[in-house]
Amino acid sequence: MSALSELYQEIALCTDCELARTRTRVVPGEGPEDADILFVGEAPGWHEDQQGRPFVGPAGHFLDELLQSIDLRRDQVYIANVIKCRPPTNRDPLPSEMLACRKWLDRQIELIQPRMIVTLGRYSLAQFSPGVTIGKAHGTARRKDGILHFAMYHPAAALHQQSLRKTIQEDMLKIPLLLTQAEQVEEAGEEDKPQQLSMF
Ligand code: URA
Repeated sequence: MSALSELYQEIALCTDCELARTRTRVVPGEGPEDADILFVGEAPGWHEDQQGRPFVGPAGHFLDELLQSIDLRRDQVYIANVIKCRPPTNRDPLPSEMLACRKWLDRQIELIQPRMIVTLGRYSLAQFSPGVTIGKAHGTARRKDGILHFAMYHPAAALHQQSLRKTIQEDMLKIPLLLTQAEQVEEAGEEDKPQQLSMF
């Protein structure tokens, strides 16, 4: 069994916060263990809770479209969430829930070792860059702990606010070039040097 599958089994047994009582299914995340890009959303919604898979509802359909726009399929990237269980009525995750769940995301990052982490929405951004606002950070990247972090608005934001749709689409189109730059930096062993990236 792969290390990720073993991790999923552990996550499925988690009762470290109250969400364990109300979830239908745990939604650990999915994708190849050697994915270059890790997308991190907020928390499962109704559809995800039913199916045990991330981003399979309306926001997920938009995410699929965004991936297509850069010639990627969802099975070529890893998709996870900050929170692995659905908050009832899709309320915002609580700080205590994010704290309890953080270990799982950390273990996923350790196993996958992505070149790039794309944060979707403010809760995901806050996990990696506390205090940074999404309005300023979206569409920009920075390197942290050897991984390139790129901030985007949450795809669901476009469903509620049509004006954000174009911004999200434009931000997504920056990913291929950033990934190529990240590869070049790694090949040159220059992860710690300042780089020509659009920084936060
Ligand atoms: N929104 C998220 O943040 N994650 C999902 O998996 C689905 C919707």
